[in-house]
Amino acid sequence: MTDVAAGMRGFVSNFGPTAALAMESCVHCGRCAEACQFYVQTEDPRYTPIHKIAPFKQAYEREVGPFAFVYRLFGLAPKVTEAEPTKWQDLIYDSCNMCGRCSLICPMGIDIADLVEQARHGMCEAGLVPTDFLGVLEEKEHATGSPFGLTTAALEKMLHDIGTRHGVVMHVDEPTADIIPTVSSIDLKTYPSSMAAIAKILNHMGASWTFRTDGFDADNVSLTAGDRIGQRSVTLGVIRAAKACGAKVLLMPECGHSFTEMRWEAANQSGAALPFRVLQITELLAEGISDGRIRVNKAPQTATYHDACQLSRRGGATAAPRIILQALGVDLHELEDAGDANWCCGGGGGVALIKRAQPLRDMAFQIKQRQVEATGVATVYTSCSGCRQTLDHGGKAVGWNKTVASLLELVADNLKD
Ligand code: SF4
Ligand code: SF4
Repeated sequence: MTDVAAGMRGFVSNFGPTAALAMESCVHCGRCAEACQFYVQTEDPRYTPIHKIAPFKQAYEREVGPFAFVYRLFGLAPKVTEAEPTKWQDLIYDSCNMCGRCSLICPMGIDIADLVEQARHGMCEAGLVPTDFLGVLEEKEHATGSPFGLTTAALEKMLHDIGTRHGVVMHVDEPTADIIPTVSSIDLKTYPSSMAAIAKILNHMGASWTFRTDGFDADNVSLTAGDRIGQRSVTLGVIRAAKACGAKVLLMPECGHSFTEMRWEAANQSGAALPFRVLQITELLAEGISDGRIRVNKAPQTATYHDACQLSRRGGATAAPRIILQALGVDLHELEDAGDANWCCGGGGGVALIKRAQPLRDMAFQIKQRQVEATGVATVYTSCSGCRQTLDHGGKAVGWNKTVASLLELVADNLKD
């Protein structure tokens, strides 16, 4: 039995004055609809971004809005029934990847992606997280600190195995280090070569670095599920491990959501400024190439680049991949709307985890497919393994003749001796 009342209480109590003001500010211009891939591809008005939070707005108006007593008196905002919140999963989880494109375009400055994130908190408190998330959270991330269900011993073995297979020296659980790379379960499971690429590049730089098995999770599935307690626990675990090493840089791998968590939220979560920099791998690569710590050969080719929403628009790492591609001599054919206005791969915000959302993901992928085909190139580079996986799956489903590849691995494959 779901606890709708608890969900509503949780949501309303979390809905601070800023968010309340934002909701009051909507002028119903409809521009966010044209920014959202789920609306654009389906033309279903339910998928208009501002409408996705309408059920929660209804609760807000009834419970704490400025005219709440009028709504209650005249029954203008009916009480939420037990059946409705389950339907809201479709709006809050399946059809929102938290890409922030609607937030970017809204003339009133309403951060709809943030409102969706807050709505997920309410859904989580009501026990209304989609079951695909629950499997990951309850069975794995809460128990082991890893969405992959990895114990520290298993992770240590996997990292050393990857090093052996790729002929790269791995540093694991060293007591002190300047750079602490975190680990994405997508990389471990699907693209282990990118873990080897990180090690190869850090070794090339002569850096002092180590993976830490006591704080490594670069996925933070709790964050996308709306589980604030789990989100904070994962974040604090990584911070503790980095602090214990005396790290100067916390390095986020080719993975999106935990990067924005670490860059923008981690200090708040821990209650103090972080004693290290948080860099996404492309930022470290761009810095290293620019100051000569990373020396690369040219890798001439034509290609395009897919910006991950959480890395560029929401993370600030938009210029870095272009600096890298230029240094490698890649003839970059930019996608339409490249950079901060980029369209999501379709699987962000945990949508990739939800099996029943596959038709929506496939429709979202069609935007990317059209854009890539318009460039006429054969290779799409990206710096997010979540995007890489979604684009790989979408491409396979349509028999695509494009290669989706890792920018990090391109650098590692073209280091100067
Ligand atoms: S773009 Fe902003 S103001 Fe316009 S409908 Fe969407 S939320 Fe409302
Ligand atoms: S954050 Fe992205 S997917 Fe979600 S409503 Fe806004 S534009 Fe649509």
